[in-house]
Amino acid sequence: MTEQTALASGPDLPQQRNLVTEIPGPASRALAQRRQRSVARGVSSVLPVFVRAAGGGVLVDVDGNSLIDFGSGIAVVSVGNSAPRVVEGVTEQVARFTHTCFMVAPYEGYLEVCEELARRTPGDHDKRSILVNSGAEAVENAVKIARYATGRPAIVAFDHAYHGRTNLTMALTAKNMPYKDRFGPFASDVYRVPMAYPLRWPGGPERCAAEALDVVTGLIHTQVGEQNVAAVIIEPIQGEGGFIVPPPGFLAGLAEFCHSHGIVLIADEIQSGFCRTGDWFACEHEGVVPDLVTTAKGIAGGLPLAGVTGRTELMDAVHVGGLGGTYGGNPVACAAALGAIATMEEENLAGRARRIGELMLPRLNALAQKYPVIGEVRGRGAMLAVELVEPGGLNPNPAAAGKVAVACHAAGLVVLTCGTFGNVLRFLPPLVIPEHLLDEGLTILEEAFAGL
Ligand SMILES: *Cc1c(COP(=O)(O)O)cnc(C)c1O
Repeated sequence: MTEQTALASGPDLPQQRNLVTEIPGPASRALAQRRQRSVARGVSSVLPVFVRAAGGGVLVDVDGNSLIDFGSGIAVVSVGNSAPRVVEGVTEQVARFTHTCFMVAPYEGYLEVCEELARRTPGDHDKRSILVNSGAEAVENAVKIARYATGRPAIVAFDHAYHGRTNLTMALTAKNMPYKDRFGPFASDVYRVPMAYPLRWPGGPERCAAEALDVVTGLIHTQVGEQNVAAVIIEPIQGEGGFIVPPPGFLAGLAEFCHSHGIVLIADEIQSGFCRTGDWFACEHEGVVPDLVTTAKGIAGGLPLAGVTGRTELMDAVHVGGLGGTYGGNPVACAAALGAIATMEEENLAGRARRIGELMLPRLNALAQKYPVIGEVRGRGAMLAVELVEPGGLNPNPAAAGKVAVACHAAGLVVLTCGTFGNVLRFLPPLVIPEHLLDEGLTILEEAFAGL
């Protein structure tokens, strides 16, 4: 461990990959043993190492290994870990006051975050917001608001959807293992429809948008009844379900259908939002304006904060006192969000996300040319993935995805997997990652594929 690594923190960490022990090293292994005696088994971790510091594009573990970060703590630290404006805002706020409860004694930071949400989310209509603590809580509140405003019970969600792990959001989430198995019974009045998934659409990718729209609207009509549907909830690019990008026209068609039947369209932008895909929000790419938007993950540089933002007539339908929570919009988290949003604006992180996509896509496409185990390269901006299949067909290949991920981890590159079939490698680097680390990370990935 160099003197510099020992002292530096956050963005001042040396921006380099540096392995000084095997992965995991002895200090991480000792903590892993200790963990088993106090942490519930149900909580799992992707990496075998424990973190001591992180910033820019690296994580430094307790043995002094410096790893390249292509995960951003699941699309959270888009501005980098301990980003200067976040640290500054948090430090100042934490010394002034840490909590009053907005429902008891309000403060300006909450207002400022809601103002930013109104300004940044798609559409220039009048908007209101509520702040909460987690993505799942935002989704829960969006559903409450949609049901209240419409007076209707049904919620429509998609195959491969991920909306969280609370009881209602488990019902909305598609995948059984590990999210739902034996955790039921689940909330009622949730209906699932097929996702426009070009790679796996039976009629082929060209027909996917139109056919999927027909199937979805047909199922809503015959099995639920449009007049019973409070909301359709969709991730504009699906996250945990496999970074599935719906084909052009699908989201717009869905928005049009919802609009014509008085159904609230909820865009779950928790993973795709805040510059990740090269726009402030992924919906913008198609000019789609949802009625409600849920945000979390990238919003606050790593502090827990989430929000629901939407049309004033929907948001303000709810009676006074009908929404809230003890910690929602905590002042320290709000200060972090304001620092993170200012960083995104000042450092043009939407542009950085597009640039990351431009640098990564040619390399990923070249890999796909070389290795038939890659069935598809997809995503947008700095939300990219490769889906692994059994060569010659489309059968999911989770074993290969797992092998590549483990090889990357051992070589000092943090990558995550996802997908209903566990066969997708996803790449979510911090938007501030230096380009030489992006380059080196891709080289490690290429070596991992070569070693399959
Ligand atoms: C992560 C995620 C959630 C849940 O957020 P939590 O903060 O983990 O509760 C919901 N929707 C999407 C699209 C997500 O990626």
